[in-house]
Amino acid sequence: MTMRIGHGYDVHRLVEGRPLFLAGVQIQHPRGLLGHSDGDVALHAVCDAVLGAMGAGDIGQHFPDTDERYLGIDSAELLRRVVTLMRDEGWCIGNVDLTLCAEEPRLAAHRHAMRARIAELLGTSITCVSVKAKTNEGLDAVGRGEAIAATAIVLLHEKPAQAGT
Ligand code: MG
Repeated sequence: MTMRIGHGYDVHRLVEGRPLFLAGVQIQHPRGLLGHSDGDVALHAVCDAVLGAMGAGDIGQHFPDTDERYLGIDSAELLRRVVTLMRDEGWCIGNVDLTLCAEEPRLAAHRHAMRARIAELLGTSITCVSVKAKTNEGLDAVGRGEAIAATAIVLLHEKPAQAGT
């Protein structure tokens, strides 16, 4: 079976006056992530990891931040489109390992909801999705609470042949 691995990274500024979305889950917090879309750094990292595994470029090529069609878009919709492309190219999700780096808010209580939402969007089992959350120990912009960063690794495998084909 052919397998492919992809890596994604993203970072967005935390600002007043925006809702906070992480991994497709809205989290109550006084600040949210700045972006042309909803700023969901976690889903952007997963999109880039899937695209990277496929050798299909990156999220900025597929959904340019100069395109008004993506202004304020729900990043879940961006991931759905990436998953459609992935399936059309004959790939399935093996597993996803996502790490969020945020000084605040504390994310442990939201981990299950984020895993479930990513699994739903990818059409896979929650057991195939890992979400880890850590702080940056007070270091740099993430550590000062000015931004949230995310990295993701995704394994893809070939879609199994249909019975009778
Ligand atoms: Mg982004």
